[in-house]
Amino acid sequence: MEYIFYSPTRIIFGEGTLKRVGEEAGKFGKRALIVTGKSSSKKSGSLDEVVNLLATHKLEVEVFDKVEPDPSAETVHEGAKVAKRFKPDVIVGLGGGSPMDAGKAIAMLVTNKGEIGNYFGTDKVKEQALPIIAIPTTAGTGSEVTKYAVITDKKNMLKQLIGSSHICPSLAILDPVLTLSMPASVTAHTGMDALSHAIEGYVCTQASPVTDILAIEAIRLIAEALPRAISEPQNLRIREKMLFASMLAGMVISSAGAGIIHGMGYSISLYYGAPHGLANALLMPQVMEFNLVASPTKFRNIAQAMGKKVEGLSDKEAARLSAVAVRELSKKMGIPRGLKEIGVKEESLSGFANTVSENVRILTLNPRRPTTKDIEEIYRKSM
Ligand code: NAP
Ligand code: FE
Repeated sequence: MEYIFYSPTRIIFGEGTLKRVGEEAGKFGKRALIVTGKSSSKKSGSLDEVVNLLATHKLEVEVFDKVEPDPSAETVHEGAKVAKRFKPDVIVGLGGGSPMDAGKAIAMLVTNKGEIGNYFGTDKVKEQALPIIAIPTTAGTGSEVTKYAVITDKKNMLKQLIGSSHICPSLAILDPVLTLSMPASVTAHTGMDALSHAIEGYVCTQASPVTDILAIEAIRLIAEALPRAISEPQNLRIREKMLFASMLAGMVISSAGAGIIHGMGYSISLYYGAPHGLANALLMPQVMEFNLVASPTKFRNIAQAMGKKVEGLSDKEAARLSAVAVRELSKKMGIPRGLKEIGVKEESLSGFANTVSENVRILTLNPRRPTTKDIEEIYRKSM
């Protein structure tokens, strides 16, 4: 079997490691642009802490704090303008996937000409982006170790993927303390996003023996830790497990790719404003049921990693339990039962299915190739 695994990001992991940001940023130069969200990093104090640590190490600092959830091309352009004026040596992405992705896209636009739209797709980026330090405050996207930035293209109403090794962060600082401030809903949604990365990456057509090991461990950890991250939000050991698992799952999708859970979820976020992880959570069990036949043994392993007893069961029976386990996990955390509950209307579904059908990359990665009708059917079952 032939495969490529690529994970070039240096990782500093552990309680209190945020302290290292000044010294580490200093290795890249004298000027740092922090890219962050509109409020959570201010409220939690993490933004002030990063600014102070950078200043202590004699860096000149500018803050771009206008990143909204599911960042738009417009926001990225605005940030790129700031970056071109300020001329940073390093970009620090502080926040959930949205600020980290925006930071990656801004770092890329400083060294590559033109508009962000030129780079939507895979391997379109020509020049290495500015150095990026990614500091996650959610345990979800794994963006701190991936080669992706997901940008909302309002003109075409699409969530666009930029996939390029030139935008992998140079350094990821994973300090679980930063995730303690997540409210239950953000914890649940982002945790289910991480689970969807591990599951989609584990079964997708580009999975490899390396990503398989990372994925199955991420699935096991998330099934165990995620409900406790909700019931014991201040338990740092549990937050640490979730942050570790989401990082592993990020490594998985960066090399293996994802599948139609992601492809289908994008429209739900775009048209109905559902957080990325929530959209994925609502679609996940039904997509898994569709995909089971392509790889019953792998779905059996997922069921087992999620704590289901599979001894004595046929692969087919055991595989079904993986979707059951995901439903139970969602239910435990109070995630709605279906798309209807978050306001999705039947009449949207066929258009959404057409959009997914045009995403050839996602269809090829998915373990079972769905027709447009299949996709529409999965949406209906998820209502
Ligand atoms: P997010 O959009 O970054 O943040 C969601 C919400 O949580 C925001 O309101 C944010 O507030 C808040 N928040 C973040 N950290 C917090 C904390 N520690 N305490 C309290 N509130 C906090 O959510 P995300 O799920 O991490 O990222 C989603 C985006 O990443 C989507 O666009 C998705 O498509 C993308 N994604 C990227 C990859 C990749 O590989 N690059 C993979 C999967 C998903 P503020 O806005 O005020 O900060
Ligand atoms: Fe995701």
